[in-house]
Amino acid sequence: MADRDPVLELHNLSVIYQNQPALWNADFSLDGNHLVGIIGPNGSGKTTMLKSIMGIIEPASGYVKLFGKPLQEVRQRIAYVPQRGTVDWDFPINVFETVLMGRTRPNNLLKRYTKVDKEIAREAIRKVNLEAFMDRQISQLSGGQQQRVFIARALAQEADLYLLDEPFAGVDMATEHAIITLLQSMRDQGKTLLVVHHDLQSVSQYFDWLIMLNTRMIAAGPTQEVFVPEMLNKTYGGNLNILSEVLNLVKTYEHSLKEGQES
Ligand code: ADP
Ligand code: MG
Repeated sequence: MADRDPVLELHNLSVIYQNQPALWNADFSLDGNHLVGIIGPNGSGKTTMLKSIMGIIEPASGYVKLFGKPLQEVRQRIAYVPQRGTVDWDFPINVFETVLMGRTRPNNLLKRYTKVDKEIAREAIRKVNLEAFMDRQISQLSGGQQQRVFIARALAQEADLYLLDEPFAGVDMATEHAIITLLQSMRDQGKTLLVVHHDLQSVSQYFDWLIMLNTRMIAAGPTQEVFVPEMLNKTYGGNLNILSEVLNLVKTYEHSLKEGQES
């Protein structure tokens, strides 16, 4: 029954740090089964939005609902993959142990994992192609491998909504391709994913839905409707270099859409 509710609703959500708004009046409603990009310039509130959805930051006003409920009631259904740079990778723990942590539940604080938990963790590691690194300390992995460990931990949680903060930062093209393919297959299996993303070149190819931020929420909706010059102008306005690059991209994108319709 609860699943008739939107997966995620933000209602006039604003976050203020030391008198400076970091996120202003974000308001949208998202149904399930979407792979969503969150785009906007540096400091535009992307991480702030994910942290306030996760209850890590208190909003100054407004509220978030997940599956029609407050966060506390559905926390297990949401997996959060923070920006890689914000994590202590020197912590002495191996790949398998890290991914197994995704199976931790509030009623399992002693960390007694079952056979099934361990099998789910192994399967998650397989899905990100790290089975050969199962026993490796996470400090001894490349950036792209560390990113995949984090994604595997989120997978092991078997959540319904995934929030990923810049999963492609510092990752080579082959890994990026493997990750986006995995995220798309999760979407196709009914999951919902929000992904902070930087590279405008790949936006229309990767995401079917977009949230565009510039402290204010500029737009939220299907990529085809919101990835348009007016909205990009408002999102990146003031940065003319980026903007002309982006407007060229949109032309190419619109062109490819037309071609698609004609064929
Ligand atoms: P993005 O992820 O889009 O780059 P953030 O959400 O991290 O942007 O930050 C939005 C704004 O809030 C920025 O101006 C940033 O400097 C500010 N900010 C973020 N975290 C803090 C904090 N803990 N204290 C004060 N200001 C912060
Ligand atoms: Mg950020």
